[in-house]
Amino acid sequence: MPAAEYLFTMSGFRMATPTVFELSFETEQPLEFLAGQFLSVIVPGAGPGGKDLRRAYSIASPPNTKPIQLCIKIVENGPGTSYLSQLRPGIQFKGVAPYGNFVFKHKPGRHAVFIATGTGVSPFRSISTSKTFQQNLPKSTTLLFGVREETELLYVDELSKLSFLKFIPMVSRPTIAPESQKVWTKGRVTDYLRKLGPEYPWLETDFYLCGNGAMIDEAKSILTANGVQKDSIHQEIYYKPKPGEES
Ligand SMILES: Cc1cc2nc3c(=O)[nH]c(=O)nc-3n(C[C@H](O)[C@H](O)[C@H](O)COP(=O)(O)OP(=O)(O)OC[C@H]3O[C@@H](n4cnc5c(N)ncnc54)[C@H](O)[C@@H]3O)c2cc1C
Repeated sequence: MPAAEYLFTMSGFRMATPTVFELSFETEQPLEFLAGQFLSVIVPGAGPGGKDLRRAYSIASPPNTKPIQLCIKIVENGPGTSYLSQLRPGIQFKGVAPYGNFVFKHKPGRHAVFIATGTGVSPFRSISTSKTFQQNLPKSTTLLFGVREETELLYVDELSKLSFLKFIPMVSRPTIAPESQKVWTKGRVTDYLRKLGPEYPWLETDFYLCGNGAMIDEAKSILTANGVQKDSIHQEIYYKPKPGEES
C-alpha cells in the first residue's frame, strides 16, 4: 500500500493518563494499513520559516475498524504534541500513511515477546487486537509494558482480557506500595528480561521492541548476550533520551 495524503476528521479526544491523550478519527477514503504501521501527521506552519512539520505516530487501533486511534504522550513545548492536543471532535487534520515495517512477521512454532515503554504500547495494541494476528497466533505471546509511575499505564483492562496474551505491566517508580495492588509488577522491563535466565527459550522467540531508544538499546544487549540473533529482533525507536536525561 503506497503512502498517500489523507484528511482526517476527529471524532474523539480522551486523556488516557495525565500525560497521554488518545485521538480518534475517521477518513473519507478508507485508510488501509498493517497492524504496527504508523502515520505521519502534518503539523501546519510549525516548522522553520512557517513551513509544515511532520510527526510520526503509530496507529494504536487494529486495521479495518473505526475509528482509527493514536495514543500520544504530551511533550512540553513540542510542536507536534501541542498541535494535536488542541484538536477536538469535528476538527480536521492531515496526515500521510501508511508507513513502516514494524509489523508482526509470523514464523510458525515460535514465541513472540513484545516489549514497550510508554506510548510504545500502541503498535502492540494494534497487532494483538488485529484479526490477522488473532487468526494465526504464535506459540505464545507476551507483552512486557513499562512505565515510570502507575498512573501512566495504558489499555490495562483491554489487554488483560486477551486470553492468548501474557500481559505484564511494570512500573519502575511507583508512588504507591506495590503490595497494595495486583495489576503491575515493580521494576523495569529490562529487569524482567534479565531475570528470565538460561532456561528461557531465547532462540525460539521473536522480540519486538518499541518506545524509548535507551530501553531498546539495553534490551537488545540482554537479548544478544542470550544468543538471540539480529533477525529475531525488531524495533521501532520513538526517541532517544538526551545524555543525562532519565530514561
Ligand atoms: C515511527 C515513530 C512512531 C512514533 N509513534 C509515536 C506514538 O505512537 N506516540 C507518541 O507519543 N510518540 C510517537 N513517536 C514520537 C513522535 O513522532 C514525536 O517525536 C513526539 O510526539 C514529539 O513531537 P513534538 O513535535 O511534540 O516534540 P519534539 O520537539 O519533536 O520533541 C522534543 C523531544 O521530546 C522527546 N520525546 C519525543 N517523543 C517522546 C515520548 N513519546 N516520550 C517522551 N519524550 C519524548 C525527545 O527527546 C525529543 O527530542 C513516534 C516516533 C516515531 C519515529
